[in-house]
Amino acid sequence: MSLPGLLRAGQDRGVPVEREGSLLASFFADREKGSEAVSPVAIVWPCPLAVDAYVASGRDVGFPRPACPLCAGPLVFWSGYRRYVRAAGRCRKIFVPRLRCARCGVSHALLPAFVLAWRLDVAETIGSVLAEVAGGVCGVRPAAERAGVPYTTARGWVRRFRARAGEVGVAFAALAVELGGQAVTPPAGAGRFALAAVGAAFAAAAGLPGWRRLGAWRFASSVTGGRLIAANTTSPWFTVGRRRFMPPIPP
Ligand SMILES: [Zn+2]
Repeated sequence: MSLPGLLRAGQDRGVPVEREGSLLASFFADREKGSEAVSPVAIVWPCPLAVDAYVASGRDVGFPRPACPLCAGPLVFWSGYRRYVRAAGRCRKIFVPRLRCARCGVSHALLPAFVLAWRLDVAETIGSVLAEVAGGVCGVRPAAERAGVPYTTARGWVRRFRARAGEVGVAFAALAVELGGQAVTPPAGAGRFALAAVGAAFAAAAGLPGWRRLGAWRFASSVTGGRLIAANTTSPWFTVGRRRFMPPIPP
């Protein structure tokens, strides 16, 4: 079946990857049905692997096993699912493990940092478009063409980023300071402020072991739990305060 066909058929956890609302609805449906409860908040780990290397490793990626983000209790690997990602114009299927907390009775998806929750395209692709458009380099159409993504998809990312830019800027500026980095002087415009703040936080994190090689957009995905441009988000910034701020796996 073609990728669009698969997405329509909803084989990525029963939902198309780019329709957030329906994914949230499915989480709550899961709960209501009394089946294994699924956390609406994915854990994003700072995976340094190239997408190809991650795909090739299958289930043998050296996955971390963080504490439960809800209760800090131990998690155990609990099956997983496959979903698509698009990198450099190619779609690949990746394995996403689930971790289960016996105490909470909840399982959490463990996403690699090159993924943003519910987005098909990798964080670097989305970030390059946001940096160009919100940074005032060019309009959406040339940025989308360069990134090899549909114009409407890129426009959606930019709209979402702009809608949340104030909040994103404040959170990343705070994180930059928390990590010992520079205070961010807000440039004119919320979009540019958000970009500057992400850059400042990443620059500060890059002084800590392991982060530099991830790049700014995997870093941004990691600390927001993949919700950099998510809608209807419960405040993602509780993830900035250490709870999911995991150090990368050493190379
Ligand atoms: Zn728990």
